[in-house]
Amino acid sequence: MRHFFGQLGQLKSVCLFTAFAIVMSLFLTFLFLMAFDHDPTALQIYVIAAIIPVIIAPIMSTFIIRLFLQVHQLELKMREFAHKDSLTGLQTRRAWFECAKSYYALAIRQKSPFTILMVDLDDFKQINDNYGHSTGDKVISQFSELATKVARESDLIARFGGEEFVFLLPNTNSLNAFSLCERIHHEIRQNMVMQEDIEVNFTVSIGLIAFNPKDPISLDTLISQADDALYQAKSRGKNCSVVYK
Ligand code: GH3
Ligand code: MG
Ligand code: MG
Repeated sequence: MRHFFGQLGQLKSVCLFTAFAIVMSLFLTFLFLMAFDHDPTALQIYVIAAIIPVIIAPIMSTFIIRLFLQVHQLELKMREFAHKDSLTGLQTRRAWFECAKSYYALAIRQKSPFTILMVDLDDFKQINDNYGHSTGDKVISQFSELATKVARESDLIARFGGEEFVFLLPNTNSLNAFSLCERIHHEIRQNMVMQEDIEVNFTVSIGLIAFNPKDPISLDTLISQADDALYQAKSRGKNCSVVYK
């Protein structure tokens, strides 16, 4: 109902509501006239029966429909908050999981490979400490723009939390995923963030795990293995990508 009014908009909804009230009023008047043995074709009575809802229905319905539409707008906003990260515009962790679960089921059915990447910005605390939180935010936004540019439209990318991101690359084996990681590292080198006149360089570490349809393991396990690979990338000195073995 809310959805229906939401799509129609306030003016059309009020008109529809009024038209409905007129039809109902005429119909009930006809029934009453029949029930009390009055002349059912008395024109004046029908004119009155039509005028009354024309006056009352718009006043009542404007108020009710405005409430309906406000609730509808709030619901849309809340859905957006739950699904879209406000800083980067990427998917949230929750939205990503919903899509990833569907894709996972499809990949098992079609026996197609995919790769998961866990990405973490390196020494991000230092960036915040040295240049301030708002520059840190700029770095997060810049990274998400670069990642979106480098990835395919069909790739699922989410901000997993703070300075951590997760990718699901459909139909991609670990070799192709690794070359995407190389492109990400390359793009980051070319696009530092400017804080006034100072260049703020940043790097990322990436852990990869390829899903093998012949030996399917759960999505949660894949994520934790990608996390392990990310941890290895950090211990190898950061600013690199490691495939889970
Ligand atoms: P490592 O290379 O090992 O990942 O070190 P790190 O400093 O990146 O990691 P650590 O977990 O120590 O610090 C992450 C920091 O990210 C701490 C937190 O304040 C900051 N952070 C988390 N979310 C945001 C955000 O939305 N904006 C900004 N500016 N900082 C954030
Ligand atoms: Mg970090
Ligand atoms: Mg982190």
